[in-house]
Amino acid sequence: MNTRIRILATTLLVPVGLALIVACQEARSIVESKTVSEHAPPVITSTFAKFTETDFNHHVDQLKKRLPSRDFSIVIQQPFVVIGDERRSVVQQRAEDTVKWAVDRLKQDFFTKDPKKILDIWLFKDEASYERHTQLLFGEKPTTPYGYYSATHKALIMNIATGGGTLVHEIVHPFIEANFPACPSWLNEGLGSLYEQCGEEDGHIHGYVNWRLPGLQQAIRAGTVTSFKNLMSMNSYVFYNENPGTNYGQARYLCYYLQQKGLLTKFYQEFLVHQKDDASGYQTLQKVLGEADMDVFKKKWERYVLDLRQGYAVTVE
Ligand SMILES: [Zn+2]
Repeated sequence: MNTRIRILATTLLVPVGLALIVACQEARSIVESKTVSEHAPPVITSTFAKFTETDFNHHVDQLKKRLPSRDFSIVIQQPFVVIGDERRSVVQQRAEDTVKWAVDRLKQDFFTKDPKKILDIWLFKDEASYERHTQLLFGEKPTTPYGYYSATHKALIMNIATGGGTLVHEIVHPFIEANFPACPSWLNEGLGSLYEQCGEEDGHIHGYVNWRLPGLQQAIRAGTVTSFKNLMSMNSYVFYNENPGTNYGQARYLCYYLQQKGLLTKFYQEFLVHQKDDASGYQTLQKVLGEADMDVFKKKWERYVLDLRQGYAVTVE
C-alpha cells in the first residue's frame, strides 16, 4: 500500500477538522451545489435533473417546516437534498466533496437512473444529535452508530462524526434500488461496503482495503467462510442475520478482487443483463472469472485475501 492510500485511509478514520471531513479526500469536484438559506432561493444545476426546480423548491419548503432547530442548513445536491447541523460551509462542502463526488463516479461506472424520489441526506454532527434527531424526526432509534438508508423515510440518516465513508456506502443503496431492484444482498452490501473506503484511480471510484479485512482473514483461517454459491444465493434475512460480519466481508472482498482484476464493472453490467436467468449472479461470476471450478477459485481468492494488508489502525467495530 502506498503512502497516498495510507493518508487517505487515515483521513477517513479521524473525523476531526474541516480537512478531514470527506469520504474521498482526493475528490475535489467542480462546485455545483448551492446552499439554501432563508434569504436566497435554491439553485439547481445538475445535468441529471428528473425533478424540476419547482419540485425541489417545494421539497425544501416542506423540509424547512420539519427542521428541529435553526442550526440546520439545507443544500440541494441532486438527486439528493443534504441537511446538516454543522456549520453551513461544512454542510455545503460535504455535499460537494462527498455526495456529488461519489454520485458522479458511481453513475460513471454503474448507474443510469437516479432514485425515484427526492431523498434527504441528514448529516447529524455528532452521536447525541444523531440519536436525538433520529428519534424526533423518524420516531426510531438507530441500530448502527454510523448511519443508514431508510427507504421508508426516503432518507439517509447519518452520524457524520464517524466519517464520510459510511455516507458513500449508504449512497450506493438507493442507486441499487433504482437501477437493480432485484439485486441480491451480497452485491448490494458488497458494493456499498467496497466504497466505504474509497478514492479515485484513473478518474474512477476505487475501493481500498479497510477495517473489514482482519475479521474476514480470521474467518478464512478458521474455515468458516461459506462457498460463493451459498453467499450469493442468500436471501436478505439470512445475509443480514446469520453470520453477517463474515457475509459483509466476503461480499466486499469478492467485489474488491473483481475490481483489482479490472472485472467489477464488467461483472455488474453482465449480471444486470442476465439477472432473470441468474438471480444470484453466480453463473455470471463464473463466466466473468473464467473459472471452471469454483472450489479452486475460492482457495485462490482466500490466499489472495490472506495476503492483503491494511495500512492504518482499525478503530471501528
Ligand atoms: Zn449497506
